[in-house]
Amino acid sequence: MSRIDLTLSEATQRLTDSHAARREQSNTARLDAQVLLCHVLEKPYSYLFTWPERELTAEQSQRFESLLVQRIKGTPVAYLTGEKEFWSLKLKVSPSVLIPRPDTELLVELALSMPLSNQANVADLGTGSGAIALALAIEKPHWAVIGVDRLPEPVATAKENAALNQISNATFVEGDWCSPLPDQLDMIVSNPPYIRENDEHLSQGDVQFEPRSALTAGKDGLDDIRTISLQAFEKLRPGGWLLFEHGYDQSSDIKLILKSNGYTAISTRQDLSNQDRVTLAQKPT
Ligand code: GLN
Repeated sequence: MSRIDLTLSEATQRLTDSHAARREQSNTARLDAQVLLCHVLEKPYSYLFTWPERELTAEQSQRFESLLVQRIKGTPVAYLTGEKEFWSLKLKVSPSVLIPRPDTELLVELALSMPLSNQANVADLGTGSGAIALALAIEKPHWAVIGVDRLPEPVATAKENAALNQISNATFVEGDWCSPLPDQLDMIVSNPPYIRENDEHLSQGDVQFEPRSALTAGKDGLDDIRTISLQAFEKLRPGGWLLFEHGYDQSSDIKLILKSNGYTAISTRQDLSNQDRVTLAQKPT
């Protein structure tokens, strides 16, 4: 038997040692231990501080130990708890979907600010857990949002997340980028794979455990952005918008791709760390 406070400090120490062994910069040891313990106890964060002297049951200790060992080996916390918060949503995640990033909230904010009708038809390509589609759908209850993914597992996860968050104006379908979409869409958004195949950060931290097909797109990371730009032009109504999330050093290449595909009003926006993060473009009216 072990008390909550002692369990936490021992786990924090073991996680800190493992971070140090891997020479990782950011040490999230204490937070990771807290999140995993709350998950095992099925209690909110505050419980840890209200009841520091409570004992874990043998079963809780065992489950916590097993999660801790996996975390020490590098498994992302979100895959261990099976959930991640994004926007105001609690989302189920599994190793078949990318873990939603706070960076991607910029794409959601911009998409919500576009001058569209109250009843817009919007698509999210490579939807994964459904994070972007569901954030748009919950903020705009009169929009019809369709999320597309190439694989069945993400589509099933996204549908589950829609149900979990009681969102009925987002639907999810399997398909190759734009192929399952109707014509005359008002907006298409995507956080596609955009990392270069040989990027060294693919072998570091959480991304090692994420689906490679959701991360990389050819030598320059732009293969999928080229495909989507081309296909989206056919599916947007005149005056419709296309928005991409992308890497900090990709905006000038993406602007050229968009221009050569006939888009206008092309511009790039920066995230909170002032890095280029989203580029948007309009199909001419
Ligand atoms: N921003 C993510 C990362 O750097 C990549 C997400 C993506 O490829 N769409 O890990």
